[in-house]
Amino acid sequence: MMPDMPVPDAVELASRLVKAPSVSGSEGPAAQVLVAAMRDAGFDDARLDAVGNAVGIIDRGPGPTVLLTGHIDTVSLGDESAWEHPPLSGAVVDGRLWGRGSVDMKSAVACMVQAAAEAKDAGFRGRLIVAGSVLEETNGFGSMHLARSLDYDVVVLGEPSKLHLKLGHKGRVEVLATFTGAIAHAAQPDLGKNALEAAARYVAALEQVELPTSQVLGPATATPTRLVTYPSSTTNVVPGKAELMVDCRTLTGQSVEDVLTALRGASANGAVEFGVPSSTVVEPGGQTRESPHVAPAYLLAPDSATARTARTVLRGVLEEAAVPFEEGVWWFCTDAPHLSAGGRPVVGFGPGEEELAHTTRESVKVSDLVVATRAYRELALAYLGGTQ
Ligand SMILES: [Zn+2]
Repeated sequence: MMPDMPVPDAVELASRLVKAPSVSGSEGPAAQVLVAAMRDAGFDDARLDAVGNAVGIIDRGPGPTVLLTGHIDTVSLGDESAWEHPPLSGAVVDGRLWGRGSVDMKSAVACMVQAAAEAKDAGFRGRLIVAGSVLEETNGFGSMHLARSLDYDVVVLGEPSKLHLKLGHKGRVEVLATFTGAIAHAAQPDLGKNALEAAARYVAALEQVELPTSQVLGPATATPTRLVTYPSSTTNVVPGKAELMVDCRTLTGQSVEDVLTALRGASANGAVEFGVPSSTVVEPGGQTRESPHVAPAYLLAPDSATARTARTVLRGVLEEAAVPFEEGVWWFCTDAPHLSAGGRPVVGFGPGEEELAHTTRESVKVSDLVVATRAYRELALAYLGGTQ
């Protein structure tokens, strides 16, 4: 290690990470930048793991293990001509860092590296791990591997939150309802059975379906998003089949079967089948498997010791920065359910406005990075101090 080396500045590192392209499945360049930065910052160990996550460890012997983590993969660059500043520029203009991954979520990972280096200098017992994970935007394999391969007691997940504390988010289940009718000439509709009309009646009935609600996560929802009829190539035939996609947002404790049971309850007749579509995905290592379109919900118990510590620490850090403390849940899915495997608590907090993620306006306030670095350092030290 090189003790004289200056700790990398979070903004500079975030900019270098943005310049290193890392669309899901091709994270290598960004992962290499991150590993090198961890080594420069004096981590005891920094390397790529078996699936390409960048993992750095500061080991100070027996004690708790805290994991600071975020994903380094991004969605595609989008229409490059629509960007005010090129998506791989990593430019800092008027107090904002620009580019794909700036808010979702390379900045948070950069802040975590800097925060860990500062925590190291402050001194602690236990282990502090920083991990930049791969494949979050596709299927979460990176974080699933972290959960399998690392021992840790508590996780801080840096998805963008405008510097608000996040306790979790709803899950998502895609349900495909397939209505079966009978084809006929549209001039003689009585000879057929119109699957489109059955689907339309179902959409109306869906508004009345009873779904659970949670004080923190809000109501579960079931929203029809797409209707396709068959045969699709003609317009003068009574459709014999209709497929309705329903986007369901779920709560913790609500299983896929619970969702399907609720949706079946809105159906008046038996000529409809409900199922969850799946896609063939390639796992790191090359094996393929069928992955159903299900993303679980996650909720950290608001009255847990982990949540209480987060509130205390963040209130202190934010007050000093004159940023109001706020608490809630994310409106999008994250890797938190994977990282929480085995009952390990996950606290959410990140720099930047989540609404800018995946857009051609993606950018983050530099001042958020300064506050987030401080917050990650103080959260890490508090949890390493055994107060979770
Ligand atoms: Zn993200």
